[in-house]
Amino acid sequence: MQNEIDRDLYDILGVGQGASAGEIKSAYRSRAHECHPDVAHHDPDGEHKFKELSFAYEILSDPEKRRTYDNFGLDGLKRGAGIDFNGFGSISDLFDVFFGEGFSSGFGSPGRRRPQRSGRQSGRDMEMVVVVTLADVLDGAEKEVDLTRMATCSDCDGSGMKTGSQMSRCSSCQGTGEVRRTQRNLFGTFIRAQVCANCMGAGEVITDPCSGCGGAGRRSLTEKLQVSVPPGVERGDRLRVREKGEGGVRGGASGDLYVVIDVAGDPRFQRDGTRLYRRATVEMVDAALGAEIEVGSIDGEFSLKIPAGTQHGDVLKARGKGLPPRYGGKRGDMSVVVDVKVPRKLTAEQKKLLESYRQAGKERARK
Ligand SMILES: [Zn+2]
Ligand SMILES: [Zn+2]
Repeated sequence: MQNEIDRDLYDILGVGQGASAGEIKSAYRSRAHECHPDVAHHDPDGEHKFKELSFAYEILSDPEKRRTYDNFGLDGLKRGAGIDFNGFGSISDLFDVFFGEGFSSGFGSPGRRRPQRSGRQSGRDMEMVVVVTLADVLDGAEKEVDLTRMATCSDCDGSGMKTGSQMSRCSSCQGTGEVRRTQRNLFGTFIRAQVCANCMGAGEVITDPCSGCGGAGRRSLTEKLQVSVPPGVERGDRLRVREKGEGGVRGGASGDLYVVIDVAGDPRFQRDGTRLYRRATVEMVDAALGAEIEVGSIDGEFSLKIPAGTQHGDVLKARGKGLPPRYGGKRGDMSVVVDVKVPRKLTAEQKKLLESYRQAGKERARK
């Protein structure tokens, strides 16, 4: 069996490059069902296919990893940290992650997590994109965003119950939190324990639900959120805002919000980390004789010395006119690429002066 992944990850999932997160997820689910070992036990490559599929999903479902893959391919991922090409966990772990507890009981994985009897559920992490300007990158910024999320219900504090009411035993599972199902295939009969759908494995159900959230323990909440963007951020940086992800229920912790930074382009500048690049026009005579010119930076104009004899395309360095490193510090430099400008029109006086300049040059060459 081969271990390396060598196919296009989008091909593996059978989706286009522009597929949304939802399309990727549903493509993964339907294909994973096809290569489930119970269905595809006749296929000797089944396990590899499943690993390949899981790997493709792991990368494409993570916006940061997906961006790395889009920009740099598999090599980029290998260079990046934290992605393991060969060390997949056991198949049953993967099934647990994607199909829920109980699905892979037949494989017997000893370390399986059970849902807590209390029904405690942590909230998932969330992600949102915030666009900043280069001026924000220079000084850092406070950005106000509208955040809509399923937050822990404030009426019942996530319990889902009306204040003072009690839980009662789930009638579907008789309080065990599990239902057992018998399944037959070519190899025999299997008994599978599945999480009770009625009580979500808690063994108890709410009899008198909270009117604020209908018993879910969470409800949609939109709020203004201040996000502190530190100086020096780059596109793709992720800032964590604690406990502003999906709310937890029945005592579970809330997820975190990850603010993904996008830096808006500025037509004047190119950026490479802390260094900025820009072009500046220099008059032919200034380039020849030397001069001081005004050059625009992010925080206003500064004076740049043009040495005598500067050539078109020369790169002059302006110290400290670039951007600070991540989380602040000394600013980087700006590289100014010189565009020497030759005048299109000359006055009679200028023409005369340039003619005598030409003559002087010829005489000097004769000597
Ligand atoms: Zn139940
Ligand atoms: Zn509630």
